Amino acid sequence: MIYPIVLFGDPVLEKPAAAVTVFDAELHKLLDDMFESMYEAHGVGLAAPQIGISKRIAVIDVTFKEDPDAKLVLINPEIIKIEGRQSSQEGCLSIPEFRENVTRGKRVTVRAQNAKGKWFEHTGEDLLARAFLHETDHLNGKLYISHISGLKRDLMKRKIRKLQKAGEWK
Ligand SMILES: [Zn+2]
Repeated sequence: MIYPIVLFGDPVLEKPAAAVTVFDAELHKLLDDMFESMYEAHGVGLAAPQIGISKRIAVIDVTFKEDPDAKLVLINPEIIKIEGRQSSQEGCLSIPEFRENVTRGKRVTVRAQNAKGKWFEHTGEDLLARAFLHETDHLNGKLYISHISGLKRDLMKRKIRKLQKAGEWK
């Protein structure tokens, strides 16, 4: 099932998501749906709040279907190590059409549970490191625009408000 992506302005995107405690068939179905929804939206990462589900779940595939082994499920993820810095354009499926330069860690280690509830650690670099940080932020109710200057953020919010008023934010 493909879920519509929740857009900026919906409070579900700005509240911390709840921990997952049950790893059952229902969760596995949700994970399949999240990958499907992410690909449909042409994204390389998707957090559950972005489909209106306030749970600590994210899916990532920075190769966008190129490498099946690159599909990653992060449940209850915590960032445990950040090294180096990288700076490049970042966007979000919940803030379509906008991109801003964001400085992030270059090499990031995340600790998370997989679909079966087993804990693992994974270290990613560059785009994957960025995805770990971006998606974990989502689960803490934080959007990438919290990492840009207040001036740029206000400008972006003004533009979004205009789009909302014009009924073009959907
Ligand atoms: Zn996002």
